[in-house]
Amino acid sequence: MGETKLVHSPLITYGSMLSLLSFTPPFVILMWYTNVHADGSILKTFNHLRENGLQGLINIWPKPTAIAGKLIICYALFEAALQLLLPGKRVEGPISPTGHKPVYKANGMAAYAVTLITYISLWWFGIFNPAIVYDHLGEILSTLIFGSLVFCVLLYIKGHVAPSSTDSGSSGNIIVDFYWGMELYPRIGKDFDIKVFTNCRFGMMSWAVLAVTYCIKQHEEYGSVSDSMLVNTILMLVYVTKFFWWEAGYWNTMDIAHDRAGFYICWGCLVWVPCIYTSPGMYLVKQPVHLGLQLAIYILVAGLLCIYINYDCDRQRQEFRRTNGKSTVWGKAPSKIVASYTTTSGEKKTSLLLTSGWWGLARHFHYVPEILAAFFWTVPALFNHFIPYFYVVFLTILLFDRAKRDDDRCKAKYGKYWKLYCEKVPYRIIPGIY
Ligand code: NDP
Repeated sequence: MGETKLVHSPLITYGSMLSLLSFTPPFVILMWYTNVHADGSILKTFNHLRENGLQGLINIWPKPTAIAGKLIICYALFEAALQLLLPGKRVEGPISPTGHKPVYKANGMAAYAVTLITYISLWWFGIFNPAIVYDHLGEILSTLIFGSLVFCVLLYIKGHVAPSSTDSGSSGNIIVDFYWGMELYPRIGKDFDIKVFTNCRFGMMSWAVLAVTYCIKQHEEYGSVSDSMLVNTILMLVYVTKFFWWEAGYWNTMDIAHDRAGFYICWGCLVWVPCIYTSPGMYLVKQPVHLGLQLAIYILVAGLLCIYINYDCDRQRQEFRRTNGKSTVWGKAPSKIVASYTTTSGEKKTSLLLTSGWWGLARHFHYVPEILAAFFWTVPALFNHFIPYFYVVFLTILLFDRAKRDDDRCKAKYGKYWKLYCEKVPYRIIPGIY
């Protein structure tokens, strides 16, 4: 892996890296504070900061505590043990630019089921009250912020001194190396894949665990769970279940196969996902909304449909690639482009690009149902406050940026074949618009 090519201008690239490095940690704390202590009102938080300045931020920033550390360590060790010990099929990841093929054990669905059953059982039998997690959430996030930064520094050092595979290297710039990472597939020993742990078993798993936590906390607080909370939790859990059902497919996506293990992916999955991705549920705990059965069902069905379409887009592409273009797409033989490319080691290879079905509507149509699904698990909060909608806005920006990054990468990889795909499928995300 040689020099990192900049997609945007250096000013935008370094500016956005440095601002994300410095602003995301306080943002996580402000998100938690607004939802838990400021009635979900950005204005209240803003006024607090305006009156007290930087000291105001320091005052609300919870210190990492022993109990927060214990909760995180127990959870992380439990997930690491499940990752290592649960049985699963041997799965090969995509071949990397240096010709390396990572091998995984596909036991994500089992780990997900064991985690939720254990967590809910601990509560049910009175062994551990998940409301404790909500009550210490600020300290937990604060501990995660600092702990994950240390973790990213260790990843950076490991990338320099003990890379796990040939898919590693320095860009020559310390900020780029720390931010984007150095290793594509860092491992501890032969089997413990660090990105599977950070992205899937810690980050995505925490989304489900916290969704359940918020429900239980609301039940403890009000004696019942509101219909808005139920719709939010069901949709988020269905989404996370879909993720683990398809986890081996996720190992073929940009996050794993192209983005290296650095602050962007690892800190993002260890801190940003537990806080920001779960934030609509975090908001609803203390701001319950009564939707009524009919509205609740409409929102639930719309959300389920979006999650299904998003799943079907990913499934269609992966079936098409797995069967070497022989799967049916919407009942017909797929239309395709046979694209050849050269690996960094100079080998000539071919890939198939699907140009019908969902992938014929737009080159990244799958982002539309992804964004709409997030909207539908947020809209139970109705429109009293903006804060629960932050995730939808963030996701939209993230995915529009990701579509551009992916298009640029594919253009560099496939050259004239990608141009042909763009002529056949001219829209990037929204058919007829963009
Ligand atoms: P993918 O990596 O799954 O898809 C893009 C890749 O697929 C390209 O890099 C290219 O890789 C290949 N490809 C592109 N066009 C075609 C085509 N026409 N036919 C066949 N292969 C093609 O995308 P993402 O990782 O972005 O998304 C995966 C899932 O994760 C989606 O459901 C998405 O919505 C979700 N997601 C969720 C996020 C969140 O934060 N909630 C963030 C990002 C994604 P190759 O080099 O193999 O050709």
